[in-house]
Amino acid sequence: MQKEDCIFCKIAKGEIPSTTVYENEDFRVIFDIAPASKGHTLIIPKQHYADIFDMDAQIGGRLFSLATAVAKSLKKELNCEGMNIVQNNGLIAGQTVFHFHLHLIPRYTGDTVNIKWNPGEANQEELKELASIVGKNI
Ligand code: AMP
Ligand code: ZN
Repeated sequence: MQKEDCIFCKIAKGEIPSTTVYENEDFRVIFDIAPASKGHTLIIPKQHYADIFDMDAQIGGRLFSLATAVAKSLKKELNCEGMNIVQNNGLIAGQTVFHFHLHLIPRYTGDTVNIKWNPGEANQEELKELASIVGKNI
């Protein structure tokens, strides 16, 4: 269902123009309007999901199946050396468009893409406890 005033609902439906790479019943694949690197691509579900927490698991499965094909085509045609796949959920995580989308960011030697965090230190006891708590909901 379309959400009023959602830019990606409008793009998904073709009501706002985008550079469409591919589309099927469930997804539209477009080039990002402000690319981090050459070929920066977004996979957008046609149905409105705000983020991963809102998303249907079956659509999520189909999304990643499509992502493998898109990634391979980008690599083949653009000759990128690697790729970051990024998906932001929530303001705190850097999400700016609140309609789920998957970023595919091809990487090239000398590019200006910066996706890095500061490695922390694991506490083994805490990890075990967290694993048992989180694992039971899956
Ligand atoms: P995020 O910060 O993960 O929510 O990413 C939003 C992305 O959408 C950014 O990389 C924007 O450049 C991109 N974007 C915003 N508006 C458009 C648009 N009209 N067409 C294509 N990409 C867009
Ligand atoms: Zn939407």
